[in-house]
Amino acid sequence: MSKVYIIRCPDYGQVSGKMDELMTMMGGVSQFVNAGQRVALKPNLLLAADPAKAVTTHPSVVAAIGRLFTAASADVVLAESPGAGYAYDRKALEKTYRMCGMEEAAKGAGIELGYDTSYESVSFPEGKLIKRFEIISPIRKADCYVNVCKLKTHNLMFLSGGVKNLFGLIPGRTKTGYHSTMTTKELFAELLLDLLSLVPPRLTIMDAVVGMEGEGPANGNPRQVGLLLASTDPLSLDVVASEIIGLPEDRNPLLLAAKGRGIHPSSIAEVEIVGMPLNELRIAGYKMPSAYSNSTMLRVIAAVLPLLRPLLTVDPRILKNKCTGCGACKNACPRDAITLRKVASIDRQKCIRCYCCHEMCRFDAIELHKGKIYRMLNK
Ligand code: SF4
Ligand code: SF4
Repeated sequence: MSKVYIIRCPDYGQVSGKMDELMTMMGGVSQFVNAGQRVALKPNLLLAADPAKAVTTHPSVVAAIGRLFTAASADVVLAESPGAGYAYDRKALEKTYRMCGMEEAAKGAGIELGYDTSYESVSFPEGKLIKRFEIISPIRKADCYVNVCKLKTHNLMFLSGGVKNLFGLIPGRTKTGYHSTMTTKELFAELLLDLLSLVPPRLTIMDAVVGMEGEGPANGNPRQVGLLLASTDPLSLDVVASEIIGLPEDRNPLLLAAKGRGIHPSSIAEVEIVGMPLNELRIAGYKMPSAYSNSTMLRVIAAVLPLLRPLLTVDPRILKNKCTGCGACKNACPRDAITLRKVASIDRQKCIRCYCCHEMCRFDAIELHKGKIYRMLNK
């Protein structure tokens, strides 16, 4: 049975000591790496955002795990390709590292800020859906990589945790191409499972000291959770994260896809939790994103009549009075559904409701609109 290790960590000032304890519980980081080897840390740096907004992995978490690996005589490098609207280039990485507090964190912990923006095309005939992935080179070149994710809600996948964070292994706007073809959460979940099976991390740490609730992964609100989690298996970690935020297993697209493939674990009964009892982990009233629905009726109609799906979900709408015309949403849109004159506008016929535009807008100029049928069925 796979294990997930959990420790309470009430605030970011205590992360360093708590990370030590957590890794000691697991048996120490030296089991993952030999002296002189290269370790890539892959945080969630979706956007160049202030860490206080809880969009990104907190720098103290990255510093704490990095410090333990450098103490084990490993060379530690930061590796990340930020969200779909960003090019995978030095300029974007510099801005993201600076805004997300990674420069300071890296300096204090002996971590190298990675600027290698090359990538490799990797054949993957075993993939169920994706037979070839482009993967950022720093991950391929490292002897091992550590996935340092953030606990967040997510409008498409409902949970952004260990497995979803692997999408940042795909360079820059190549991500947009995948969003374009993986048009539903079910397909996107299959993509993530293929990616996990091609490039599994050696270790996954989850920053759940402060999570994000509501309109995640970029526009939600910080929510105090007070936990650090670790596992060698990001899927196990997501099973537990789903429990923490109260996302039922049969509403989590990733766990449903795993179950469909016969991958374990896809249920909390298949995970051993070390460090805390399960009943102390659940956070009451964790707010789900707008696109999450509890309505069985809505799901049945969407399954039986897929053509009606656009009416049964929430729509991104531009708030013209707030739109600055910056174009970030247009860059992130996988379907070319956004045009830009002075302000942005969305072609609803082309839109696949992936919500990448909503993630990338820094001006709160995109609202997620619940249509009449959606509201009726969610009463
Ligand atoms: S909607 Fe947001 S991201 Fe798009 S152009 Fe307007 S301000 Fe920029
Ligand atoms: S308009 Fe927004 S939600 Fe629609 S396809 Fe483009 S990025 Fe996705």
